[in-house]
Amino acid sequence: MSAEELYSIKMRASKKENGTDVHISGAEKIVEAPDVDIFANALIERGMHHSKGEADALNLKIHKVCKENIIYLDALSVETIEVETWEKGQEEIKKYLKETGIDNPQDVMQFLDETYAMRGAMLLDVDRLIRLEPDKKRGIRATNMDQERMKGDRIGNEKNHYEEAIVLATKVANCPGIIGEICISDDPEYVTGYVSSKEIGYRRITKMKRMGSEKGGRIFLFRGTDAEEQKAIDFLQNQHVIVRNVPKKICKKSDMKRAQKWDKIDKALVSLKENHLFRAMKTIESAQSSHVTIDGKDYVLMASNNYLDIASHPSIKSAVVESTAMYGFGSGGSRLTTGNTVIHNALENKIASYKETEAAIVFNTGYVANVATISAMVKKGDTVFSDELNHASIIDGCRLSKAKIVTYAHNDMDDLRKKIQENPCETGIVVSDAVFSMDGDILKLPEFLDICEENQLFSMVDEAHSTGVIGKTGHGIREYWQEKRQVDILMGTFSKSIGGEGGYVAGETRLINYLRNVARGFIFSTSLSPVTMAANLAGIEVLEKEISRVTKLQYNVKYFCTQLGKYGINVKSETAIIPVIIGDEENALTVSNYLHENGYFISAIRYPTVAKGAARLRVALMSSHTEAELKKCAELIGKALLMK
Ligand SMILES: *Cc1c(COP(=O)(O)O)cnc(C)c1O
Repeated sequence: MSAEELYSIKMRASKKENGTDVHISGAEKIVEAPDVDIFANALIERGMHHSKGEADALNLKIHKVCKENIIYLDALSVETIEVETWEKGQEEIKKYLKETGIDNPQDVMQFLDETYAMRGAMLLDVDRLIRLEPDKKRGIRATNMDQERMKGDRIGNEKNHYEEAIVLATKVANCPGIIGEICISDDPEYVTGYVSSKEIGYRRITKMKRMGSEKGGRIFLFRGTDAEEQKAIDFLQNQHVIVRNVPKKICKKSDMKRAQKWDKIDKALVSLKENHLFRAMKTIESAQSSHVTIDGKDYVLMASNNYLDIASHPSIKSAVVESTAMYGFGSGGSRLTTGNTVIHNALENKIASYKETEAAIVFNTGYVANVATISAMVKKGDTVFSDELNHASIIDGCRLSKAKIVTYAHNDMDDLRKKIQENPCETGIVVSDAVFSMDGDILKLPEFLDICEENQLFSMVDEAHSTGVIGKTGHGIREYWQEKRQVDILMGTFSKSIGGEGGYVAGETRLINYLRNVARGFIFSTSLSPVTMAANLAGIEVLEKEISRVTKLQYNVKYFCTQLGKYGINVKSETAIIPVIIGDEENALTVSNYLHENGYFISAIRYPTVAKGAARLRVALMSSHTEAELKKCAELIGKALLMK
């Protein structure tokens, strides 16, 4: 660097969460005048497109720094200590503290528990064992530093954690009064951390905490007088430092030591179990109906999406038998090659007429319908506006499309309007569940369509849980709202109330023609068996003919909510999905197990299906549940909640 003056550029991006600013990313550079633009742009890019989320606000500060006020330091030397377990890593920290002249390492290490959730670092007087940060919550933030760059170094807007950590550790190690530093990441999946000092250098330890733990933080170890303490804080926060000769990479690719390949998998499993998030499957030995047999025992099934109890309907059974006799089973190819039969076409015509659209296209599952359709409708440069509680298949479709994903607050049409205004785009789509799969509430369709129309955006609605459930005759979301207008892309499944399997999209002929030609999940997968198509067809016919199933289901919902109310559990659901929020993952399991012991099969839904700490029972009703069964179930839930 030759110019007399340099510029410091600092970026801080944040987003709003429940009204408060949440930090997304921050970074700083110290660069020469001609490079200011390019680095500033790189930092803006980095702050605006961070994996932690879209920034709502970005702060960029640029100011001049006199070269004579900058201290140049040589980077600490780097060494890596491989340890097999995190306990051994903790031993390494102890050893390091002893080497640093600290006789009571255990006492110092106890402070690591307090660094949890601190924004900055702790400044710890190692002799008196007291914390010296003026603001305990904020901690000390070491800033105003960068590495020296050579001509031709890449700029890169991604964070280089490795280099940035060495720059910081070098500044800290050279601070008056600081004898060392301990740093553990708060990322639950990242267990490598470091200890450092001027004498020892930068010592990476490959495992410093238990996998899956969010407990991390940074301690600056201080030894000195009160006056030196002020000096140290001033140096850490205000002194401009440029670090020379920062090593570029952990190691050359060729020396990279290969990890034990099953290590991460094993750890992930242990962590799931420790956090009560491990899932095991129950095995059902009978047909899917309001009662099922598990391990030879009878259970009332209140967890199934087979809301109208159509899956084992005689019409479906005979459709399967007859079509098997006629077609055998496998379809032998994708729809565009040899896998299209008269029954495939008939099912598409049927669903189009049931949903009052020009045409329809069938996909192998509802999951594939969403993923394939969204990724066909939008691409890089386009925008998807998506409800924050949308089904995982919608989220995955958005991700695969590479379009910009803007999530809006759950079923909040004002927020949707706001997000559309804030994110102008040429082509965009707004997508929502009709009935939300874990909360059971209903999309405000008329306003949703108004907004899509006003803004020339495609509307897409997922009817997985609305068809057969809401609307006077079970036709779903449009019938429920008595909405005349059509949704551009009306997606649904045969796998829920229709008692079959597969997904579909209904809409205008041009939409369906487009999807048939572009949707990869349709094109590159063998089509479902004609037998499945025949079963789905029979399922829709049952739904159309036996409206009493829909009416009974709707009655059961009302009845069950009233029963729950008797135990102080207030749920106002109009759909077959009745969420009983419990919160804690372990409690939710306890309640679900209690119900199981009493002959009721109800799932406990936990993270990642719902947010952490929002674990719940997801009661799913069927038209064939009796009043006595519902009454008993409400009573058991009431008891279980009192017990916990
Ligand atoms: C179940 C579900 C899907 C996926 O349908 P499958 O046929 O089970 O793959 C899609 N969207 C929603 C809202 C769902 O509940």
